[in-house]
Amino acid sequence: MIRKSTIMLLIILSILSFSSCCDPLENKDTEKQEKYLLMATLYNYYAAEYQALAHQAFNIGKERLAQIRSERPEEENLAVVVDIDETILNNAPYEAKTILDGKSYESESWYEWCNMAVAEPVPGAIEFLQFADSLGFHVFYITNRKEKFVGEGTRQNVRNLGFPQTTDDHFLLRTDERNKEKRRQSVSENYEIVLLAGDNMGDFYEDTDVFTEREATMKSNMDNFGKKFIVLPNAIYGDWLTAIGIPGESQTIDSLLQIMAKPYHHKLK
Ligand SMILES: [Mg+2]
Repeated sequence: MIRKSTIMLLIILSILSFSSCCDPLENKDTEKQEKYLLMATLYNYYAAEYQALAHQAFNIGKERLAQIRSERPEEENLAVVVDIDETILNNAPYEAKTILDGKSYESESWYEWCNMAVAEPVPGAIEFLQFADSLGFHVFYITNRKEKFVGEGTRQNVRNLGFPQTTDDHFLLRTDERNKEKRRQSVSENYEIVLLAGDNMGDFYEDTDVFTEREATMKSNMDNFGKKFIVLPNAIYGDWLTAIGIPGESQTIDSLLQIMAKPYHHKLK
């Protein structure tokens, strides 16, 4: 008599062989970026560990805000600045569709996604900003989404989800340069920024895409992480890719393997 577990194993194997024969990526160009984006995307959006990291980040953020407020109970000009993509909004459906279609990031499809205004929140993000609001902090959303193409859609998405302080004056989208420093300075003219949350170093300070420089800047800011800077994980995209030689466009798998082997090849037999 065949045991139940054996039957279950056979069912699983038949499902696996069916899914591998029908893998939507199998017949795509394997030299495209999307294939190596698979693991990063799966981790970033579907792993419990990713979600736990997001909660961890925002829990630390809440603790910090509570502490700051207890030390400065009367001050009314304290501000929290957050990035939007992969900091408070999760773009998993866009990433997944791009991969399944065998395509790369394209501004046209990205704008379309942004203007649908249906992105879901990063775990813990709404509660974090509602907490900030309840303690009297001013909240500003600084994002490199472009005002001209996705301004309304972006604000609508954030508003629909119940994030606090979502009048137009709390959003600073990109109107010219990508660097966020000027936009942070414009907030600092009237407020003191006491905490920033983001998934890219440029969300915290002026950064470069030179590997050694950004590592040095990160180290010089070491004490700020978990205090003034709250970092969210993003293995899918960001300036870290440019810094290791992947400019964000399609790369061959071979060239990626070479980049990966570089720091280690002398240590391996
Ligand atoms: Mg971001």
